[in-house]
Amino acid sequence: MNKSDKCDKKRTFFSEIEARKERGWAESEHKKKFNIYYCDKCNGWHLASIK
Ligand SMILES: [Zn+2]
Repeated sequence: MNKSDKCDKKRTFFSEIEARKERGWAESEHKKKFNIYYCDKCNGWHLASIK
């Protein structure tokens, strides 16, 4: 229905630098590796955990 619906459930960063900083925190907190990727639906950056 809403094209940005999926993005609403994710944290969105408005610059790659911001996303990189957050990845550092997320990796130490969750003890997982995360990918940063650019999303053209919301023109932002998201983190995705690597399994
Ligand atoms: Zn998005």
